[in-house]
Amino acid sequence: NLTQRLGRVVKTLRGQARLTEDNIADMLREVRMALLEADVALPVVKDFIARVKEKALGQDVIGSLTPGQALVGVVHRELTELMGGQATGLNLATQPPAIILMSGLQGAGKTTTTAKLGKWLKERQKKKVLAVSCDVYRPAAIEQLKAVSAQAGIEFFPSHAGEKPAAIAAAALDYAKKHYFDVLFVDTAGRLAIDSAMMAEIKELHALLNPVESLFVVDAMLGQDAVNTARAFNEALPLTGVVLTKLDGDARGGAALSVRHVTGKPLKFAGVGEKLNGIEEFHPERMASRILGMGDILGLVEEAQRGVDQDKAQEFVKKMKSGKGFDLNDFKDQIGQMRKMGGMSSLLDKMPAQFAQMAQQAGGAVEDKAVGRIEGIINSMTPGERSKPELIKASRKRRIAAGAGVQVQEVNRLLNQFEQTQKVMKQFSKGGMAKMMRGMKG
Ligand code: GDP
Ligand code: MG
Repeated sequence: NLTQRLGRVVKTLRGQARLTEDNIADMLREVRMALLEADVALPVVKDFIARVKEKALGQDVIGSLTPGQALVGVVHRELTELMGGQATGLNLATQPPAIILMSGLQGAGKTTTTAKLGKWLKERQKKKVLAVSCDVYRPAAIEQLKAVSAQAGIEFFPSHAGEKPAAIAAAALDYAKKHYFDVLFVDTAGRLAIDSAMMAEIKELHALLNPVESLFVVDAMLGQDAVNTARAFNEALPLTGVVLTKLDGDARGGAALSVRHVTGKPLKFAGVGEKLNGIEEFHPERMASRILGMGDILGLVEEAQRGVDQDKAQEFVKKMKSGKGFDLNDFKDQIGQMRKMGGMSSLLDKMPAQFAQMAQQAGGAVEDKAVGRIEGIINSMTPGERSKPELIKASRKRRIAAGAGVQVQEVNRLLNQFEQTQKVMKQFSKGGMAKMMRGMKG
């Protein structure tokens, strides 16, 4: 897969003195195959390779960077660009209710995403949210939205099989206006494949509602097919953004790469689990790190070995090698180490994507302040809790939150993200991380 291939590329280039036409060509061949294997559309790949080549050849390898790192840096920046650069949130700037129309194939995750985003808007932005289903072909689909809306704590506007989608939408809009809702989600019927009746229906809904957000929901696991679907919906509707679901089940990222390229529309959210909190704002930069796999953890360790605290760095490498025992104590040490190495931004650049994400989410910003908050939370834990985070249940969470002066949710977020990181660490240790570490140190 893409992660492994690019990992191999980094390894091959490590130890080479300079970039030559030859080794760039080798690397580009690997990247090209990796992207094709990850199901990225061919024109996207061609474009991408051309850009990386141009940038890489013009690039001076400076300072402490190895040529491999420099090239991976270029690939990372270009991947980020390809996925749209900056993160863009939901646009609710309109006369309320802000209407959000959900479109996509059956099973893409429209209904689930409706509830996830509703919960998100309610909890984070204190919005009053109404959801309605125009999926009149499957009574179970309406029931499903009702159930997940209740779970999400948002209001559900009832509809029934056999009613006309346009009539349902109009009634829901009327209700939303009368009761001063901030946001109205309109969930729609999908089909198993692109189908002209479905397109006509969603177009009609769009024309009627004139939504401020028209979100195309697509299953990341569809790979190349996601691209074709995205193209069809983008031609039929003035989409404002894309939600890529089931990224938890797809490590390849191919769909993320090409959907943006094909539609020109921003990827706004990523679905990362079946549960209603399994959603994240889509950050192209983080996705690029994820596609590249390990961030530059090797660079990080190297730097630690060169400059700061040999023993601790060694210990870290040992733990990584063994693939077990990576706990919040280690994470805390890492933060302390990296502080010494020159602050937050250089630190985040070098951390594996999952770490960076954890730091960003726990603090909400890429700043030393964010790290301070994480450190504060971890400091409020006992050593026992740090080495066995699964011990931390509700009452401990409250104590820790109070100790760190943060909300319990922030502790939860840190723990969730940490759990994810641990999983990634385990995968690394199974899939060659140990080998890479040995190679690097030799
Ligand atoms: P719809 O037909 O487009 O409304 O799709 P649903 O919302 O009913 O979702 C289809 C299936 O995908 C359900 O089983 C969801 O639980 C699942 N699902 C949706 N989003 C995600 C996600 O981000 N991750 C995972 N693992 N499953 C998801
Ligand atoms: Mg549905």
